[in-house]
Order: sequence, then C-alpha cells, then structure tokens
Amino acid sequence: MPHVVPAFSRIGEENAFAVLARATELAAKGRDIINLGIGQPDFPTPPHIVEAAVKALRDGHHGYTPATGILPLREAVAADLDRRFSVEVSPESVMILPGGKVTMFATILMFGEPGAEILYPDPGFPIYRSMIEFTGAIPVPVPIREANGFAFSAEETLSLITPRTRLLILNSPANPTGGVTPKVEIERLVGGLAKHPDVAVMSDEIYGTMTYDGEEHVSLLRYPELRDRLVYLDGASKTYAMTGWRLGWSVWPKPLYENMRKLAVNAHSCVNAATQWAGIAALSGPQDCVREMVEEFDRRRKIVVEGLNRLPGVSCITPKGAFYAFPNVSRTGWKAKALASTLLDEAGVAVIGGPDFGVHGEGYLRLSYANSAENILRALDRMGEFLETRKAA
Ligand code: PLP
Repeated sequence: MPHVVPAFSRIGEENAFAVLARATELAAKGRDIINLGIGQPDFPTPPHIVEAAVKALRDGHHGYTPATGILPLREAVAADLDRRFSVEVSPESVMILPGGKVTMFATILMFGEPGAEILYPDPGFPIYRSMIEFTGAIPVPVPIREANGFAFSAEETLSLITPRTRLLILNSPANPTGGVTPKVEIERLVGGLAKHPDVAVMSDEIYGTMTYDGEEHVSLLRYPELRDRLVYLDGASKTYAMTGWRLGWSVWPKPLYENMRKLAVNAHSCVNAATQWAGIAALSGPQDCVREMVEEFDRRRKIVVEGLNRLPGVSCITPKGAFYAFPNVSRTGWKAKALASTLLDEAGVAVIGGPDFGVHGEGYLRLSYANSAENILRALDRMGEFLETRKAA
C-alpha cells in the first residue's frame, strides 16, 4: 500500500453531498423524492450572466489569466463592496478563486498547525472543522444557540480566546441556521478583539445579500481596525445562482494576499476565464435578478416556518437570512440524524440532520427552502403524516 500522510484520515465531508447522492439514487429507482437537503439556489443563472460567458468564449478568452483574477473582475468586486457597504477596497487586495470554499481552505491552511487553536461556529458549515482537523490544529467550537436567534454571542466567542488562538471564523448570515448576527453584537465582538491583536478573523459572508424582514447584513469589512487581519469571504454561488460555475472572491490583508497568490499559482493557476467574464456581468449588471430571487426565498421562508410550526413536536424560529430553516425536533422523540435518514427512506423527503453541522446541532434538522413552494408544501405534508404515524426508532 502507498503511504498517505495521516492528515488525510482526519479530513471530513459535507454530508449534504452524501444526502444528495442518496436522494438521486432513490429517485433513479423511481421514488418521488423532494430534496430540501442541498444548499444551492434552484434558479438558473440569470441569462445576461450566461451570455457574458458565451461571448467571452466566442471572443477568444481561452487562456490562463493572472492567478489573482482579471483586473476588471477585481475592480467589479471592489465596486460592489463599495456599493453595498460603503467601504474602500483596493482591487489589489481582491483575489478571484474557484468558489467560496477555496478561501476557507487557504485561510485555515495559513493559520492551522499542531498546537494552534481555531474558533469556528457550531452548528456551522462542516468544512471549517474538517479543514481545521486536517491541519492538525485544535478545533474550538463556538456554540450557536437558538435562544440567541442563532446569532453568535460576542461575549461567549471572546471568552474562548486563549494565547494559542490563531484564527476566528465567523459566518453571518449563517448556514445551517439562517441566523443573522445583529450590528450591536458584531460591534461588541470587534471591540473585544482589540485586546487580541494576534487573532486573525475570517468572515464568511457568502449569504450577505440574503436577509429578510429588513434585517441589515453588517459586513466585518466595515471595521478599519480589523482590516489588517481580516479575510473577507464571498462569491457568486448563492447570490447569482452560480454554484456550478465555481466563482468566489475574497479580500485579504497585504502579507496574506501574497501567500494566497502563491498558493493559487501552485494549486489551480486561475479561475476559468469565461467564468470570470460572467462574474463581471453578475456584479456590474442589473441587480434585479438578486432582488427577485431573495423575494422568492422570503415567500418560501414564510411557508416553511409556518408549516414546520404546525408539525407535532417541531418548533422553528424565523430565520433572518440565507435560505435555511433550522427547526428544533427534540420533542419528536427522534434523534435528529435518525429522523433525517428515516424521512428520506420512508417519506421521500431529503433534509440534513443537525449533528452534521456539529455537536450543538443535535435536536435540529436543516431544511433548505431552495425548492418550489409547491414542493415545500408537499414535503411538509409528508413530514406531518410521518411524525403522526411513525414511532421514533
Ligand atoms: N460558506 C458557506 C457558509 C456555505 O454554505 C457555502 C456553500 O454551501 C460555501 C461557503 C461555499 O460556497 P462555494 O460553493 O462557492 O464554494
């Protein structure tokens, strides 16, 4: 047997992909499966964005680009951040990457090593913990609590910082809870971080355009005192329904930017050129498509929350962002993962068990409402019938 380094035995998975594979397998056997498992918009990419990529190919954009991304796209990212958050970002600090995940991969690699501690949200996006463990660093979960509206608590986060803490990962609006952390809490955290100047921050704001009920998304980019240690993560996957294009971007402090550039040269050279031109059309073109998608998500959000609260043993607070609901199912008598897998096998509804997002996810399910209102209603009916008739395993 070839000897693979032990780090690979510590690398994890994103169970949403396994549930998607299982749901697809059942559907191929003729089962009627409603998929509320996977976190990707069910809309097609807006046509003007697709056209920009087609045109780029026709215009001959077939070669490598700079590893950092083409300048007009980096300028479009900077202009978008100025438009949304009134912040000045130099295109020289913007890095174009094949998806949002690459920023977290690289950031965690830059700060993770044996003995280092990295704070991350739990429940949270599973790749954070997986990558932290891959580097040999110690993952320190920051509990994200329903009682706090699934916002992170500045006080609790700051209390977990030790002299070994290298990196703090934040995510608002959040996957899997839909929680949005309010401005007062963010300002409390930023204030407290002044006492910990050596702790870097990665702010995953990939759902930043998706908030509801007038809730404001407060970007960490708005705090100049953090800018020399902040990695801002964003991308086109969710906002412009472009998950399969692989287009992300991030803003880096200067010394880290150079590391990221070299890593890109070594790992992937650049993002494919046509996708980068599509990104310019996405960021610089009309934003009505984003508004329309968010309005449709909002409509479904209300349907899903209302329906969940009618199910026996289930309660669900109203998520303020992203496109996920995170109902509390602890009173159903089911363990969350057993409930998720039995729902798929017996009721044909794919959802994800909360523990797939960390130990603090026990007692919850994640439902993605990136599916039609009609399918959401059918799924809720099936879940209701299941919970009324089926005893906990
Ligand atoms: N960050 C969060 C919180 C996510 O939920 C996701 C995708 O589900 C990503 C980052 C990764 O996005 P991408 O598909 O652009 O790599």
